[in-house]
Amino acid sequence: MGTFYCAICRQTTFTGKRHIFGKNHQSRLRVVLLKFVEKVKEARRTLKKPQVEKFDCTQHKQTFWCYCCGLNIESNVTDGNMAVLHGGLLEHMATPEHKKNTHKFWWENKADPKLRDKVIIAEEETERFKVEVAKALESYVEKEDEYIKQQADLLRAQEKHRQEVLQSLLEVCFPRMQWHVMQSRSRLTDPTAPTCLRRILSALSFCLKDQSSRWGAASWTPWLKCRGLQQDKA
Ligand SMILES: [Zn+2]
Ligand SMILES: [Zn+2]
Repeated sequence: MGTFYCAICRQTTFTGKRHIFGKNHQSRLRVVLLKFVEKVKEARRTLKKPQVEKFDCTQHKQTFWCYCCGLNIESNVTDGNMAVLHGGLLEHMATPEHKKNTHKFWWENKADPKLRDKVIIAEEETERFKVEVAKALESYVEKEDEYIKQQADLLRAQEKHRQEVLQSLLEVCFPRMQWHVMQSRSRLTDPTAPTCLRRILSALSFCLKDQSSRWGAASWTPWLKCRGLQQDKA
């Protein structure tokens, strides 16, 4: 006979000694079983209405310790895309091995017999659960498809609006810009237009006249002479 580990007391008993299933063990067992039964009860609530969610590795990778089998079991069932909450727990509680181990555990620990059947799930119940899971998965996929369709419609509507805004800018604003350019050009050539540009132009011509007087008559003389000659000839 080797060592014995009591998961309830978290104590190892070595060869030659017997683990005492006394008062301490029983009070710890009550606490452990209440938590264990509560967990199974929570999972049982989803038997008729399974909960299907989009898989999230931070939430759906939970495990639970089955005291009866001494095994760590995945709480949920997932394909990496979707997760069926409590699916793993319900499936485990319905296996013949778990049923056999539960009976053994209850007898060894002298646990309350009223609680025993609360941690065993009948095979028929899991069969019905699987049918409900298939329906829940189908409706989940339909909802997902509908959501994707809505998002695609929204993107199309946004793109259409963007195109319309761009089109109206081209149709309204661009001709207006052209009109303003034309107006500015016509003001430049219109002598009656009291614009800044005209004032600038007259100031510029004054400067030129002033410069010509400063440069002196010498530089202009040949040109004036030539012009005078031409005028004379005319
Ligand atoms: Zn113990
Ligand atoms: Zn088990």
